[in-house]
Amino acid sequence: MAEKHLFIGLDVGGTSVKMGLFDKGGELLGKGSVPTPPLIDADGYHAVTDGIAALLAAASESADNVNGIGLAIPCPVPADGVIRMQANIQINAPGLADALERACPAAAVKFENDANAAAMGELWAGSGKDYQSLVFVTLGTGVGGGVVVDGHVVGGVVGAGGEIGHLCMNSDEERTCGCGGKGHLEQYASATGIVASYKAECEQRGLEPVELEGPSDSRSVFAAASAGDEAAWAAIDTMCDYLGRALAIIACVVDPQAFVLGGGTSNSSNLFMERLLASYRRYAFAVSADTPIEIASLGNDAGIYGAAFVALQAAEDAA
Ligand SMILES: [Zn+2]
Repeated sequence: MAEKHLFIGLDVGGTSVKMGLFDKGGELLGKGSVPTPPLIDADGYHAVTDGIAALLAAASESADNVNGIGLAIPCPVPADGVIRMQANIQINAPGLADALERACPAAAVKFENDANAAAMGELWAGSGKDYQSLVFVTLGTGVGGGVVVDGHVVGGVVGAGGEIGHLCMNSDEERTCGCGGKGHLEQYASATGIVASYKAECEQRGLEPVELEGPSDSRSVFAAASAGDEAAWAAIDTMCDYLGRALAIIACVVDPQAFVLGGGTSNSSNLFMERLLASYRRYAFAVSADTPIEIASLGNDAGIYGAAFVALQAAEDAA
């Protein structure tokens, strides 16, 4: 019987570890999830390996057929794979990798930053399927990104590759970014940034903002814009101006085949895409002006797809 090649992608978030089982062609064979334990001791590692065992059992597959396990994690992962910075989750990467290798002895284990993993997911099985190079931007509570060149993530020396949200776009900004910097793209293009811009625009105009469900409810700002709220449109224009300029700058460095936008705010692209394209073209180097800006298609599953894909690449590199 021919050897089976299976790959598992784990998306390690603050509340759950999402899991996906894939074949070599990117077909999703099964999904699961376990609550995120502190991944620092045997109990935590077991919670993950038990979840993998359940995922394999549900698909009637054996651990011996797993050739790679990838983990998308919320912290910088340098190209050398040595994680130097702790994220907002407790994780002992070498300990967890050992436990995974014991559970699936034929598997290569690979860690990847979560936004970079999502970029690889879109490249493998989503909107980026036709491309070899793309720049993925996730517009969520924050702004993340992933740069893929010739089918591989550009992680960088310290893991800052693709940290698009922290491009400094406005040196006059007085508000502080989550990272401690000032005037970063995330402060204008994240859901939180859009809400902050909207409130500032309302104040400037002496207008009462629409009711908002929390500091990152950009959805209500987009709804207000479609109802004709000019402060909401001003906030969206600010987002499009900075985001378009950031993409134009990135195109001068990477020259990707496409930009792919994911995250919750990308669901409102029908309201902002025309403005974003206009802004991008205004700032772009002339030969890059037609680079397409597309919308991601894998949603919250991009991480498990991409984690599995980087594991597949690691397995091929090891072979
Ligand atoms: Zn920042």
